[in-house]
Amino acid sequence: MRLEPIEADYLVVGAGAAGLAFADQLLNETDATIALVDRRHRVGGHWNDVYPFVRLHQPSANYGVNSRPLGSGHKDSFGFNAGLDELASGAEVVSYFETVMQQQMLPTGRVQFVPMSEYRPTGEVVSLVSGAARPVKAGKIVDATIHSPSIPATRTPTYNVAPGMICAPINDLPKLARAGHRIVIIGAGKTGMDACLWLLANGASPDTITWIVPRDSWMFNRANFQAGQDRLIDVARFIADEVECIEQASSIDDVFDRLEARGAVLRLDPTIKPTMHHCATVTEGELAVLRSIRNIVRLGRVVAIEAHQIVLEKGAIPTDCDTVHIDCSASAIVGAAARPVFAGNQICLQNLRLCQPVFSAALIAHVEATRTDDAEKNAICVPVPMPSDPVGWLHMMAEELPCRLRWGAIEDIVAFMASSRLDSVAPRMANLRPTDTAELAELDRYSRNIEPAMAKLKVLLSQ
Ligand SMILES: Cc1cc2nc3c(=O)[nH]c(=O)nc-3n(C[C@H](O)[C@H](O)[C@H](O)COP(=O)(O)OP(=O)(O)OC[C@H]3O[C@@H](n4cnc5c(N)ncnc54)[C@H](O)[C@@H]3O)c2cc1C
Repeated sequence: MRLEPIEADYLVVGAGAAGLAFADQLLNETDATIALVDRRHRVGGHWNDVYPFVRLHQPSANYGVNSRPLGSGHKDSFGFNAGLDELASGAEVVSYFETVMQQQMLPTGRVQFVPMSEYRPTGEVVSLVSGAARPVKAGKIVDATIHSPSIPATRTPTYNVAPGMICAPINDLPKLARAGHRIVIIGAGKTGMDACLWLLANGASPDTITWIVPRDSWMFNRANFQAGQDRLIDVARFIADEVECIEQASSIDDVFDRLEARGAVLRLDPTIKPTMHHCATVTEGELAVLRSIRNIVRLGRVVAIEAHQIVLEKGAIPTDCDTVHIDCSASAIVGAAARPVFAGNQICLQNLRLCQPVFSAALIAHVEATRTDDAEKNAICVPVPMPSDPVGWLHMMAEELPCRLRWGAIEDIVAFMASSRLDSVAPRMANLRPTDTAELAELDRYSRNIEPAMAKLKVLLSQ
């Protein structure tokens, strides 16, 4: 069955955070019409399938779409995040995005949302409910799916699970965590950490938890990424330390040793060298609690859960049918190969800054709204690779630092960043006064070291 075509200036494939941040900015800077298509039944993307106790890993203040604040701007007064900016729950994020669609986008009359529908490479949009195909008549197609994260709830684990063994995604942890059951947490990314923290916060004894840690991770300290003007000093010191440590380092390991000595990165066990870097963010309080878990298994990835043992890449540990195995092994970060953001009538939303999908999508929309030449647009919007490990993080910095310099020399980009709530630094820098000497000193240290750091990165990455 074929239906009426979907007609719009822009067809955005994917109504997750990236697609919505792009559409929001474009709506506010142009009079374009936009159709958003998604396989899911409502906007918000993967946030619709997150585990019940998930929270943003960064302050709500800098997440969402540019035109609408998320959260109420308060600081948490209890829990692991006490004293720091609020972190929206998954339910709040979904509700926020729904409000953006219902109260801001649809009332413009320029937006249509097409749920439960898949965009196919043939250029059609097919309803997953009826199977009906609708042709598309769009000026441009925007791919907002490339960094869609892999999450435990919507994928099957890569390891085999023997019949009768309890193994479930992290979403089921509140239903399965019961006294008397040993719990095995599989995975040591942010999702695995959240599972451990949730158990410990709810009174589980650390000794009932076995944590399978295939790779240790470098993590950021959330205290350095607070949104208030009074906390600009922390992030200014952090970015100055980043470039100074790179500039002074004699090897890749030395970069991380220096960053750790300054509190810019953290790790679970100071005696183990991390081989993962996925932009995970923790507080020092969370880290202290995670360190109370003593049954940490570092034998590589799980290969199979059998009736009496868990087989891992480098060994096996005993288990049994009363033990609850919680899958946290999906890699939330998807590192698709970079391609040009602008290519004729195709736009591919990618990160232009370290793990900042919503800021990046909004900036791409601003560039689309203000320029016509693809070469000029692509010179501003250079995708940075998603890091997987410490070397990947340095590759990402090698791409990002020159971008920061280029953006700083383009008047409207500077103005965009200074007025964007999704930029966690620029608006506060624009508010600095001559009396803010500590912040200005850190920003001066950052500016002095950025070009030497770019040169040093070339040397380190060629080693
Ligand atoms: C637990 C967790 C916490 C996180 N916390 C933060 C944080 O604090 N800050 C931060 O910046 N990032 C965070 N992230 C990263 C997060 O992935 C991004 O912020 C963002 O939500 C990704 O949005 P997206 O639009 O790229 O992908 P998604 O949310 O996955 O949206 C993509 C959408 O595209 C749809 N789609 C795909 N293909 C098609 C097709 N062919 N046709 C139609 N529809 C299609 C999918 O159905 C999906 O709804 C977190 C991630 C996780 C997993």
